[in-house]
Amino acid sequence: MNQNINIVWLKRDLRITDHAPLQAAIRAGQPTILLYCFEPSLMAHPNYSERHWRFIWESLEDMQTALKPYGCQVLICHNEVLPVLSVLQEEYGIRQIFSHQETGIKLTFDRDIAVKKFCQKHRIDWQEYDQDGVIRGLKHRKNWVQYWRKTITTHPMIKVEMTHFQSFEPLYSIYKKIKGETLPKAITTPHPDFQKGGALLAWRYLKSFTEKRATKYMQQISKPALSRQSCSRISPYLAVGNVSLREAYQWAKTTMNTSEMKWQQKNFLSRLRWRSHFMQKLESEWQLEFEPTNKVLKALDRDYDEILFAAWAEGRTGVPMVDANMRCLAATGFTNFRMRAMLVSFATFTLWQDWKRVSKHLSRLFLDFEPGIHYGQMQMQAGLTGYNTLRIYNPYIQAEKNDPDGDFVRKWLPELTNVPTPHIFRPHLMTPMEQTFYDCIIGKDYPQPIVNVEENNRKYRDHYWQYRNSPATKAMLPQILELHCIPNDGRSDAMWE
Ligand SMILES: Cc1cc2nc3c(=O)[nH]c(=O)nc-3n(C[C@H](O)[C@H](O)[C@H](O)COP(=O)(O)OP(=O)(O)OC[C@H]3O[C@@H](n4cnc5c(N)ncnc54)[C@H](O)[C@@H]3O)c2cc1C
Repeated sequence: MNQNINIVWLKRDLRITDHAPLQAAIRAGQPTILLYCFEPSLMAHPNYSERHWRFIWESLEDMQTALKPYGCQVLICHNEVLPVLSVLQEEYGIRQIFSHQETGIKLTFDRDIAVKKFCQKHRIDWQEYDQDGVIRGLKHRKNWVQYWRKTITTHPMIKVEMTHFQSFEPLYSIYKKIKGETLPKAITTPHPDFQKGGALLAWRYLKSFTEKRATKYMQQISKPALSRQSCSRISPYLAVGNVSLREAYQWAKTTMNTSEMKWQQKNFLSRLRWRSHFMQKLESEWQLEFEPTNKVLKALDRDYDEILFAAWAEGRTGVPMVDANMRCLAATGFTNFRMRAMLVSFATFTLWQDWKRVSKHLSRLFLDFEPGIHYGQMQMQAGLTGYNTLRIYNPYIQAEKNDPDGDFVRKWLPELTNVPTPHIFRPHLMTPMEQTFYDCIIGKDYPQPIVNVEENNRKYRDHYWQYRNSPATKAMLPQILELHCIPNDGRSDAMWE
């Protein structure tokens, strides 16, 4: 068999800058296919929904535009990777595959193991590169910070010499064998209410943030309406790799240097570091998708209540700040960190619902779904690590603090449009006369709260601490801290989160 083509397997690295696999393929100097597969198994996975694939489709369209001057394009298949590689191997012979490492869910982990076996069988050299400051198979964090600094903060950008790229296009008869079904229209048609994918927009978001929008970053980071402008909003772009973490970090480091921006810069850069910190947790322990960090806390045994879960998921709990955030997320794919934490706290403590079910629902809604951050944060907010400070949120207080005029709540709950601010966060306390005045009959136009929030928070907090304080839970801590926390860095793990 003549092994005469190479492949750059694109996964969550949809850009042509700072791209180690692409540059390595160029250096290898062989005819090369740039390949992206919309994998049906991953598309059907309960963590994902249409919005993620649309963002990826848009990112690929943007890449095609960027690649045009170099006379090449991405070969897009709607098919599993292995059958695609098998056909290409059979027809042309593959010499090398270049890709970025992926810190993903079990499904992609298993798929990578299968690809590795395939490569071994056919003597294909598969080269993988880190882009996230994450170390494969790490069992302790002793040197992690140094590694992270070296790869992300000081490592020069990978210069991609596209003019030397030797593009290879398979014959159409062969492409027909691997391309799969046409993608659904809902994926290939833009949606005006969501951020649009692509490196061009990733940089537009990043630059507008570092030049201007960041001036109120920390003051507004928890405000559900204002944070949409004053946070960077680069999370979905990082999740699919429209911009690399190194690019984002080094750009912000060199551009946000005015006295006005210094504090904002420090906080933004910390969050980029937390991103890797959380991804490393999942990389070190893939089981975090399924099990609590502290295994003893499996015994918490939360409920599966269809009625309570559906009310939370559909934004009709009768607690306006929860419902407004849920409806906003469903419509736009974004809400800020504090609001996400509050939604998880409400579902897993106030309603005492199973965390994995909550997690799946949210990951389908978050346009920026990033498994490492998502599972780590889910576990922290649901109290499953056994060592982080636990915060059980009161959504009424969060509303008063972060949406004091009720504008965000009114925007997403039109049934409360006429309710004045003193009643907006607890409309169920209005008298029947007030309900008539303000066009909002509780139980008809807007629900009664499905539970008594303060009572439930107290009840489940006490229940939770019985487990959290148990000797068995505490006995697990040394090995958890060893695997997941950063020692000798002059800061506690909590400060990284
Ligand atoms: C339950 C829960 C689930 C989450 N799931 C995700 C997820 O799937 N994907 C995701 O990107 N973020 C997730 N986050 C973290 C955070 O809410 C988002 O990163 C942030 O809201 C994205 O907006 P931004 O890009 O404007 O953030 P900025 O505040 O501008 O931060 C810049 C970047 O830093 C990283 N970052 C920010 N906050 C955190 C954090 N607390 N931990 C780790 N990294 C952080 C993100 O990559 C973000 O894009 C989750 C938080 C919670 C509480």
